[in-house]
Amino acid sequence: MAVMITDLCINCDACIDECPATAIVSVDDAPLETEFTYVKPEKCIECVDSTVPKCVDVCPTEGAIVWDMPYTAEFNDYYLGRNEEGIYAIRVHKKQGIFSPEKKPKPFRESIPMDAREAHEPVEI
Ligand code: SF4
Ligand code: SF4
Repeated sequence: MAVMITDLCINCDACIDECPATAIVSVDDAPLETEFTYVKPEKCIECVDSTVPKCVDVCPTEGAIVWDMPYTAEFNDYYLGRNEEGIYAIRVHKKQGIFSPEKKPKPFRESIPMDAREAHEPVEI
């Protein structure tokens, strides 16, 4: 990630079409059992080329979208752990294996402090 969607989400799915990375999927299309719209951490680019994360820009529910750690090699173990816990379901490619942060790092917003990410603070715009 990235950003993640919390249980404050009302499943309006307004964010799905706004994502430039096609990282967001509805409950029915999610790669794991979830009650809420899901962000694929292996795809989220934190909208680094935009002034604000586009999902948050359209979300009607304050606090539904929060920060998670950068999807980079430094956080490889973190994401693989979250994957094992069933919080994420990172894509597994037939030939290339799991699209881990080590293998497929993503851009992230350097301006977001690590403690805000660790605390899963809401993404504010
Ligand atoms: S921050 Fe941007 S890339 Fe990430 S899920 Fe939201 S809209 Fe998609
Ligand atoms: S826009 Fe907000 S409330 Fe609607 S599905 Fe996305 S995260 Fe959930």
